[in-house]
Amino acid sequence: MEGLSVAMRAACERGVFQRLQISNGGPIISHLLYADDALFLGEWSEHNIKNLARVLHCFHVSAGLRVNFNKSRVFGVGVSMQEVTRYARPLGCEPAKLPFNYLGVPIGANMKHIKNWKPVIERFQNKLSKWKSKTLSFGGRLTLVQSILGNIPTYFLSLFVAPQGVIDKLEGIRKKFLWGSSEGTRKIHWASWDMITTSKEAGRIGIGTIKSLNVSLIVKWWSRLRVGPSTTWAAAITSLHDLNSNLEGYYANNTLPGVRKNIAGVRKELLEKEIAIERIMKKQPCGSGNSWTCSLTSDGSFIVKALRNVWESCPTIPIGRFEWTTDIPIKVVCFAWRERMGKIPTALALSKRGVNLENTFCSLCGDIQECADHALVRCQYARTVWEWTFKWCGIPTSTLLSVCDVLEYATKWFDCPLRRKLLLGICYGTLWNTWIARNNRVF
Ligand SMILES: [Zn+2]
Repeated sequence: MEGLSVAMRAACERGVFQRLQISNGGPIISHLLYADDALFLGEWSEHNIKNLARVLHCFHVSAGLRVNFNKSRVFGVGVSMQEVTRYARPLGCEPAKLPFNYLGVPIGANMKHIKNWKPVIERFQNKLSKWKSKTLSFGGRLTLVQSILGNIPTYFLSLFVAPQGVIDKLEGIRKKFLWGSSEGTRKIHWASWDMITTSKEAGRIGIGTIKSLNVSLIVKWWSRLRVGPSTTWAAAITSLHDLNSNLEGYYANNTLPGVRKNIAGVRKELLEKEIAIERIMKKQPCGSGNSWTCSLTSDGSFIVKALRNVWESCPTIPIGRFEWTTDIPIKVVCFAWRERMGKIPTALALSKRGVNLENTFCSLCGDIQECADHALVRCQYARTVWEWTFKWCGIPTSTLLSVCDVLEYATKWFDCPLRRKLLLGICYGTLWNTWIARNNRVF
């Protein structure tokens, strides 16, 4: 493709191809290449299109690489479709119009309309289907709900500000999948969506919201604009919106046209979260000019995750910080978290949420209503399991009344962080297996 760039440069220098000049003295662009895709931009004239076809033909003869005109499209901006058809047909190209998809992203579509987000919503629905929800544990579903943000909508969310309706729809799909609900059947949502999405440091799960991802990805462009104002895209945007004299006020400017107006709007949304965009990227004197550093990271570079963490930060929950560990299966740690938050489906918890049960007493001893602390610690069966577990770990047995007691008691025994972590993992595993044994008994 380097050869194609050389050919295009030579054609432009000799005046054979008239490139596109961005307004307000911006960069002059003739072509953009990505992998094996090529996009040519030039003045709209039959002469220019024919010359471009000639350049591509010469390139074919000299380099042996042929552009497939049957697969190519001609777009005219601000000209009639008849004219586009008249110019495109003789070359063997298809005439086309905006909007169109380029690298999976809609170009020229109004992304304020929910209908233009349909591909993202459909792919979300397919990935988070009901059958997958049934075959996975809570931990597995949680992993999928988190990881889906990493691939499917990132392209869209990094370029466009999603309308609230789209965010609600996507979050709704995630919620339903996590708790196993489907059309017509609503399962109990044991924890609020805030508890699932907000900060892990504050005791929640911290998978993050789609809104925080969207805003952070958009702000990344803003940081790139500051750090590298001479790059082609930055120069094009700056000139297009005539920002040369007012880059500082870029995000404060709500009068920008088109998609940039939405992007400028994220400043307001950040302010609602008490995050001032001006404080995220700070200007510092560097040599003869200035450099920009991000105040959220130690090395000064902007990282999407750092801004998301600030966005998702919240007060710590009353029971304190939950210790997450990656050394044991996620389903086991998630179960321990749910237990600590009082969010597991014991008979008592189900009956409190309106589920009609014949009997809410412990399935083993039958003496007392089944709460989490009874089923997992106080019941005779569970107590024996904990006695044996502590004995096996070389810790004296003690009278413990709740899961909280067990975890606090167990983790205070060792000074060595590794041994503490190991013991914590054993405790989480014991909780999980005691619960599995309870389920096997009940169902
Ligand atoms: Zn019992």
